[in-house]
Amino acid sequence: MMDALFLVAQWQSDRTHFRLTDITARKEWFIYARDLLRILEVLQDMAHRDECLSLQKDEYEVLQAVYPDLICSTTTDRTLSLEVTVELSDSHRVVGPEHTPTEEPTVVSALPPVLLDVRLPDEYPLYASPQVISLQTRHRWIPDVDKISRFLLDMWTPGEQVLTIWVEWLSNGTFLEDLDLAECIDGVRMIRVPDQHLIPILRDFDEHLKQAKFSESSFTCEICMTPCKGARCLRLSCSHVFCRSCLDGFWKSHIADGDLARVGCPDPACVKAHQEANEEEVKGVVEQHVFERWKYLWDKRAFERGVSAVYCPIPYCQAPVPYIPTEESNPSWKLFRTCIKCGFAFCSYCEAAWHGPAIECPRKVGEKAIERMLKRNPLAESPDYAAMARKGFQYSKTKLSQEVRQNKASYQLIQGTS
Ligand SMILES: [Zn+2]
Ligand SMILES: [Zn+2]
Ligand SMILES: [Zn+2]
Ligand SMILES: [Zn+2]
Repeated sequence: MMDALFLVAQWQSDRTHFRLTDITARKEWFIYARDLLRILEVLQDMAHRDECLSLQKDEYEVLQAVYPDLICSTTTDRTLSLEVTVELSDSHRVVGPEHTPTEEPTVVSALPPVLLDVRLPDEYPLYASPQVISLQTRHRWIPDVDKISRFLLDMWTPGEQVLTIWVEWLSNGTFLEDLDLAECIDGVRMIRVPDQHLIPILRDFDEHLKQAKFSESSFTCEICMTPCKGARCLRLSCSHVFCRSCLDGFWKSHIADGDLARVGCPDPACVKAHQEANEEEVKGVVEQHVFERWKYLWDKRAFERGVSAVYCPIPYCQAPVPYIPTEESNPSWKLFRTCIKCGFAFCSYCEAAWHGPAIECPRKVGEKAIERMLKRNPLAESPDYAAMARKGFQYSKTKLSQEVRQNKASYQLIQGTS
């Protein structure tokens, strides 16, 4: 900041000069009027520059406080290298240029960072916008980055500390919708990527970030009541978190007793709901030989349940799903199954997403209607008609199974939002 300067200018009788007095230094000069104007301009520029630099410093400090990992480097010419990780408030499904409905949908809530090099001119933020030196996304998952730059530059208005607004716009993913990179179809939020091979890359990035965050967070295990880092805990599919050593002890003893139903979440509500642990969870907690015994018991139980064991209808899952009796009185619940592996709740008869006990299974309704029609028609006795009706029956069954497949496809869309 400049020191204050007190000058007094007096208009002289010759009508061309000013007498300029520096009050503190007790000096005086006679100068032309036009020179005085130039001096004032220079002084004003210096004052503005100082103000800009101080505003830049403030903004830099705010950014560092709010986004500690954001600023990677700064240079003497005030070029900042920013790495903005995109963290979305809702999960988005990643879709590539090819349509592959049978594949397991990739759902992410974080995206690889936007890498932004930006230079702050002397006149920023009062009279100039920051300059975008380079802009790229890691793994180049956005092809047209120039569009982002143009959007950024349009955001600045004179006097505005726009860097903070830029970072927020990028980091919360608002830019995806503003640039038509994300859209919402039938309630499912989607992000389009230009190349199919980017889908697994984005999935891995999201998974790593989630893992890193979980490992860094602290949890209090409900069993031993000890606070510990996520790295030593496990989040079960019901989203309860316990420390691994407690789960290990708890599960090991139940596996030794052959009590499979208790190898699950120890939370009382989950015990009541028969929330069993899945294969991955058990494998990740207990020792290998204990896991092998669990697997043996599990397969044996599925075999013993025989006919009541069905397979998960989700194409990429196909896990055997045992029948677990519920306390519900409505007999329709007998058809209800929940896949232990992927969590899909479905009807074991029509294999569609669970339609609830209040609605009679649509496949059963359809089949009954056809049978009724066959019985009621007096012509049903004639062999020709019976052959025709059988064809019709076959046709209706094909149609029903088509509907089931459509239901499965819509389930995959629904899963994309969860
Ligand atoms: Zn514990
Ligand atoms: Zn639980
Ligand atoms: Zn499944
Ligand atoms: Zn059904």
